[in-house]
Formats: sequence, C-alpha cells, structure tokens
Amino acid sequence: MNPPPQTSIPAYRGRLAPSPTGYLHLGHARTFWVAQQRAEQNGGELILRNDDLDSTRYQMEFVDAMLEDLRWFGFEWSEGPDIGGPFAPYNQSERMSFYQAALEKLRVGNFIYPCTCSRKDIQQAVTAPHAADDELIYPGTCRAKGDEWRVAGGKPEDATPPGTRHAALRFRVPDGETVSFHDQNLGLQTFVAGKDFGDFVVWRGDGVPAYQLSCAVDDAAMRISEVVRGADLLVSTARQILIYRALGLAPPQFFHCELMLDDQGQRLAKRHDALSLRTLRGQGSTPTELRSRWLSAGRGG
Ligand code: GLU
Ligand code: ZN
Repeated sequence: MNPPPQTSIPAYRGRLAPSPTGYLHLGHARTFWVAQQRAEQNGGELILRNDDLDSTRYQMEFVDAMLEDLRWFGFEWSEGPDIGGPFAPYNQSERMSFYQAALEKLRVGNFIYPCTCSRKDIQQAVTAPHAADDELIYPGTCRAKGDEWRVAGGKPEDATPPGTRHAALRFRVPDGETVSFHDQNLGLQTFVAGKDFGDFVVWRGDGVPAYQLSCAVDDAAMRISEVVRGADLLVSTARQILIYRALGLAPPQFFHCELMLDDQGQRLAKRHDALSLRTLRGQGSTPTELRSRWLSAGRGG
C-alpha cells in the first residue's frame, strides 16, 4: 500500500493551470502573477498544472515554451510536470483515470446524459438568449435520453447508434436554482442555473473530458485551496461548483481577476501575438519592466 501523500498540507495551495495551445501572453502573466502573489501573501504553495487535454490544439513545442516563459517572467512553483510532487502526474493528459472515475460517479448519480446534437442543431433549437458568458444555452433536446442510456450501460459509446455522431455527455443543471459563491476579489456572485448557463458538456463526443470536469476534478484532487482565474470564467466557476457538489467534494475559494485591457481598452485576446511574452522578450522587454507597466494596480477593466 502506498503511504498517503504528504501528511502536512499547507493551508494555502494555489495553482497556475495554463493550456499549451499557444504562446503565453500578458493576460496569462497578469492572472498568474496575482496567483503567485496570493500564494506568497498567504505563506502557501503554488502548483503548476499543464492543462494539455485538448490534443487537437495542443502542441509539444508550446509546453516547453510555456515552462521557459513562465520561469523567465519570474514564476516559481513547488510542484509541477517538470519537478513532480505528491499529487503527480501534473499533465492532464496523464490523468484520464481520475476523470473516468468522476464521470462514473456522475453517471451513477444521474447527473449526466448523452447528447448527440450538433452545434447547428443547438443553434436552430435555441430560443433563450446566450448564457452570461456567451455559451449557447442548451435547449434540453436530449435530456430525456438519460434513463435508457444508464440502463444500457452508461458508456458514451452506448449512446451512439451506428452511423450517428458520437455522443457528448452533458451535466443536467438544476433549472431555476441559484448558484452563489463569495469571490475573494469581487464579492458575492450569483448565477441562476438554466438561465445564466444551461446543461454543459462534461465529456466531449471525441472522448476528451471537457474543461469543466477536468478542472474541477484536478483542483479537488490536488487540494487546491484557492483558484485564481480571469473574470471571464465566473460562469464556469458556477458550473464547476455544481460538479463539486455532484461529486461530494468541497469547492475551493475563488479569486477572479478583472480582465486586462490593452492601451486601446480592448481585452487582451489569447492569440494577440504582439503581446506574447516571447515577442516582448525578443523586443528587449524585461520582466521587471513588463510587471511595472502592465501589472500595476488599476489596470484591470
Ligand atoms: N487551462 C485553463 C485555461 O487556460 C484553466 C482555466 C482556469 O480554470 O483557471 O483556460
Ligand atoms: Zn442533444
């Protein structure tokens, strides 16, 4: 039998969870810097997790670049894919068994159902407006399939009749229920299930665990005490709180950072190449300079 991982776990455990889908830009650096400062201020640990599940967008070169750019900028972590730690592996692509176990719990608890709708089907059936974060609110077309599917065995492939599209698995949200949490930066946040967000995918039709599931499962498994992320993920936090609840897990605290704007007041998009850390570094910028120019108080928006 393995000994339990680490007997004294520090009270504060924060994390950086980049996805290697492109070069890191200043928007990431800002959120991560807040995460690192929160960990320092609380005398805690910072964990690096490589969110590399999306193999269609994931490229090896970005993983190496990501680690290098993070170190260059001044980030330091005490557990991660490069150094290991008590909650290894830290690459999501190596953690499939965790997601499968969570999915099985959701299936047994009747929280999920297979959905064979295409994006176009959903667009055509949607009458409600978009969710608070611009996702389409799923109209519930496949909700009724849950029971027959569970009786049939409950594997994603059991929900896929021959010749049809591979089923995704969706979380059935409790319509009308208020999901609220006290954000450590923004105060009380309140979202209504079925109105601010609808049934969301936890397992994609191509067999890849969706972000909402993998993220909640790993933050819990790695004993993260506070998740620092951008305010664009507020509604996802509400979704993930429902996953924690369904899995019988206690959610961490959340600290959402205001989104960073560029000089024109535009939100820094992920692939804004001119502002990737690589490009800035190539142009002679130093981390100190970038931090004082971009990470100073009052720049958020
Ligand atoms: N890997 C995710 C991203 O980069 C993590 C988001 C989060 O939960 O902080 O978008
Ligand atoms: Zn459907």
